[in-house]
Amino acid sequence: MTVADQQSDLRPSRKVLERGLAVGIDIGGTKVLGGIVDVDGTILATCRKSTPGRDVAAVENTLAAVVAELVDSRDIVALGIGAAGWIDGTGSTVMFSPHLAWRNEPLRESLQARLGRPVLVENDANAAAWAESRFGAGTGESRMLCLTLGTGIGGGIVMDGRIERGRFGAAGEFGHMVIVPDGHRCECGNRGCLEQYASGNALGREARELARAGSPMVHEIVRRVDGDVDAITGQVVAEAALDDDPGARNLFADVGAWLGLGLANLAAAYDPGRFVIGGGVSATGELLLEPTRQSFARNLTGRGYRPAAGVVHAQLGPEAGLVGAADLARRAVTDA
Ligand SMILES: [Zn+2]
Repeated sequence: MTVADQQSDLRPSRKVLERGLAVGIDIGGTKVLGGIVDVDGTILATCRKSTPGRDVAAVENTLAAVVAELVDSRDIVALGIGAAGWIDGTGSTVMFSPHLAWRNEPLRESLQARLGRPVLVENDANAAAWAESRFGAGTGESRMLCLTLGTGIGGGIVMDGRIERGRFGAAGEFGHMVIVPDGHRCECGNRGCLEQYASGNALGREARELARAGSPMVHEIVRRVDGDVDAITGQVVAEAALDDDPGARNLFADVGAWLGLGLANLAAAYDPGRFVIGGGVSATGELLLEPTRQSFARNLTGRGYRPAAGVVHAQLGPEAGLVGAADLARRAVTDA
């Protein structure tokens, strides 16, 4: 049976199509977050479970359990999965996932066979970018780049109503643009990647370094972890910054400076109308975005002689990935 035959076998009834409910699941290294999403991007119900380690079968069982719990009596059009990693251009195979054991895993086929509904697999940052573009901070802008700042940096490109995935499904890895030659080592194997300077991990690392050097700049941050320097994370720095700690705010200004440089590079390549910044690190809002805009304006090529893209905060929060995955999966069925 070809994929197309399999898809038509799975096509839901007209009534289910009209209601248009889809399940979206965002699967990360520690948690699986699922939700039922309607055609307006509204989440009607959610379900959260821990990611069961790196065992492929156990992860699949958890995905199936989340779907079963969510669907209950409501039938759905399709299921969308957002996962970190490289997904092939057809939304079928996870070629590589950093947090999970998926290596060339035909996730779509196995889940479709198991659940009896069309499945679409998408990179998690692409899914979040799509959700912001359709329902959040990117609405009304035809050319948008989305950066999700968590432990690392996820990126998504939405151009003229579609996600740009690249020739091999690996576009939008903005976190791995090298901005400091021979800089900090990155998990990807290179040195000096943007995510080593403008992510939650970078915030934590910088604060720990200052703490070990006995810098008074991080007194408040060290106090918050009762002197346990190893316990300092980006989250701790963010909380201190939100409580007006000047040292933590300085660290955010540094992150903003690096991020703005990254955005200027991206503007040179893509010339978008808007950058949407999301993820845990961006929860500090203007504390991050203001220094980011300043650095962006300072580094933008042709500055003063071209319109500059807006830099705005994402609107959909941590559910963006599941909303985007659900919407993409629904559209793949209804537009087919
Ligand atoms: Zn890297």
